[in-house]
Amino acid sequence: MSVILDLTRIVQTAADAESPSAQVSVIVDSIQQYLGLDVCSLYLADERGDMALLASHGLNLGSVGGIRIPAGKGLVGLVAQSRHPINIADAAQHPAFYSIRETKEERYSSFFGVPIVRGGVVIGVLVAQSKEARELSAEESAVLVTLGSQLALVVSTESIWQEINHSTAPVLTGIKGAPGIGIGLVRLCDEDDLYSVSDGQCRDIDAALQEWQELVKTVLADVKREQAGLSELLSQDVAAVFDAYCLLLSDPSLVNGVSQLIRDGVHLPGALKKVIHQHADVFLAMDDPYLRARHEDIRHLGNKLYSAWRGLRATGSEELPTTRTVLVGSQVSVSDIARIPSEYLAGIVCFQGSNLSHTAVLANALGVPAVMGVGEIRGLYNQDELVVDGNTAKVIVRPTPSVLVEYEQILKAQQQLKGELQELRDLPAQTVDGTKICLYANSGLLADISPGLQAGAEGLGLYRTEIPFMVSETFPSEEEQLAVYRQILEAYDTKPVHMRVLDIGGDKPLPYFPIREENPALGWRGIRFCLDNSSLFMSQIRAMLRASEGRENLRIMLPMVGNTSEIIEFHTLLDDAITQLAEEGIHVLRPPVGIMVEVPSAISQLRSWRHLLDFISIGSNDLSQYLLALDRNNPRVARSYDHVHPAVLHEIARVIEIAQSTDLPFSVCGEMSSDPIAVLLLLGLGVRTLSMSAAQLPKIKWLLRQISIDNAKAIVEEALLLNDAMHIRKLVADRLYVLGAGEILW
Ligand code: PEP
Ligand code: MG
Repeated sequence: MSVILDLTRIVQTAADAESPSAQVSVIVDSIQQYLGLDVCSLYLADERGDMALLASHGLNLGSVGGIRIPAGKGLVGLVAQSRHPINIADAAQHPAFYSIRETKEERYSSFFGVPIVRGGVVIGVLVAQSKEARELSAEESAVLVTLGSQLALVVSTESIWQEINHSTAPVLTGIKGAPGIGIGLVRLCDEDDLYSVSDGQCRDIDAALQEWQELVKTVLADVKREQAGLSELLSQDVAAVFDAYCLLLSDPSLVNGVSQLIRDGVHLPGALKKVIHQHADVFLAMDDPYLRARHEDIRHLGNKLYSAWRGLRATGSEELPTTRTVLVGSQVSVSDIARIPSEYLAGIVCFQGSNLSHTAVLANALGVPAVMGVGEIRGLYNQDELVVDGNTAKVIVRPTPSVLVEYEQILKAQQQLKGELQELRDLPAQTVDGTKICLYANSGLLADISPGLQAGAEGLGLYRTEIPFMVSETFPSEEEQLAVYRQILEAYDTKPVHMRVLDIGGDKPLPYFPIREENPALGWRGIRFCLDNSSLFMSQIRAMLRASEGRENLRIMLPMVGNTSEIIEFHTLLDDAITQLAEEGIHVLRPPVGIMVEVPSAISQLRSWRHLLDFISIGSNDLSQYLLALDRNNPRVARSYDHVHPAVLHEIARVIEIAQSTDLPFSVCGEMSSDPIAVLLLLGLGVRTLSMSAAQLPKIKWLLRQISIDNAKAIVEEALLLNDAMHIRKLVADRLYVLGAGEILW
């Protein structure tokens, strides 16, 4: 029993090691200690089958991985080839003995080697040796054989090779923040951490209250200055992410909350910490990933206020970089980004954070590669060289010259592509055979509007009205909605704007209207929620109609439709709203009405709904989620969620066939529209209108201009014969390379 426990402990310690090199050292040290033999070594097979000595307790190792025994050579090679343990008392006398000068192995007589086999392949050999010329006992052999089989499960061979091949270059994997490759020198963004402030009493309450008011004013001015600086690079609207800070700084619950605590006798930083904590926790507890990510804004702001209070961040006093810089920190704030001139900002790496944080939003808008959530990088210093690979969410610390050369080549190719994309802005979105494709933008924030127009969008294909509802503190009034909708319709002038009615519930909860359900994805959401809350719904419909007064570019789209009655009820409400407004003297046109095709049950009913609809848009995100029964936001099953799954493609083909045969205009507005592989398949299936985030538009336009509809048709025909999303991806990727458009996948 105790042997089993000891072995479990060794395997567990190896599994818990903090790095691949630590893992192999732990293995050999703990085995040597346990068996009391003179030497324990671990060899791992490289891609040629040579055995590299990666760790040893007892042998002279030289450089890690530097000592290699050619495939099939020596006793180690024999163990690997035979896949059996070898137990010999006098190794030097064995015909296969192979002496390596550096290790001074000849000092040891006995040799016991056991293969480490994973999935039928020998990945390494574990060796124990002693000076005494004796065979290992049956018990000792059993221990090593057992360890060999268990280690096969925990040794992370891939990471070990990565570490060796890049020598001093650990590779860290995080979450994709913004695409692209960036190479630069580290600039650590260590904010003063408000959370480390300890409790304290306020000695002079009046002075502290005064100080707090001054602080808010100073930081507000600071944020506005940073925002103005950034607006020169970006559209005014994108720089509006700073508005979140400004709003918080004017939020009475924050400002008055701190004042109240000071009045209660808490010292200023303590009061600030408490209030920021409370605000951040509210967001952190939210199920919706977008809103949860907002807690980072609040923490940044708290740290910013604290820094200003300590006087450590004297405005504009920092030295500006003079070389390509990668911002690295626990959380890189929007202000940190604003401080670096754009020509020097090569990348962003956050130890924490998600792809929905404002840091990621801004990085995307600025076109700066970003990787989020890599976990803390230990031993990283200012001026260390770093590669940020936003395409694969990898960060390479202190890359070796060969790795660097490789990335510099990719970077060069990407810059060339970027230059070509810029030139595309005013060129038509059409395939090489001249087929015009209509490209719309998706939006949900006022901040997205002008990038969409700048990228050449021919309209808004999906305006997610729930986003303003989600960032508000209460249900926005009809007047508040009217102001937002009017701005959008005006910005797009005569171009169509497809406003989707409130799609809350499921993965999009409202903070002020919690819906507790066992199964929210299948619960009270989208059109079901709207129709059950008709007065709220009516105010939204009225606001949309009023915003369209004197215009013709409003389209209304219904989310999550699965029943005929839902469309009919909406038409009745729309008619009522138009009549009400007419009675109030506001005369508006009845806008075209369509639905999202995202609930699978809608598909078979589409034909019978033709007379109720002016258009449809395929919501590939939810359609895939419901067809595949895979939660689109659950990282545990994210691997299997793929919108090019054959089941999704076949259903989309069915929707298109129905739409074409009934002359029903259709588009796709889910993430498929910005995935080059999916776009090729959609074109082949007959899609001619795609709606995507503004940032993706130029890339997709470039792709369209490289291919013909015949190419796409031939590819989709082949793809529909395959029964696995991965094979479909591979097929389309291969074809893209053959067509000379493979670089879109980098
Ligand atoms: C979709 O489901 O594909 C879609 C576009 O809507 P959302 O992502 O907002 O649910
Ligand atoms: Mg949806």
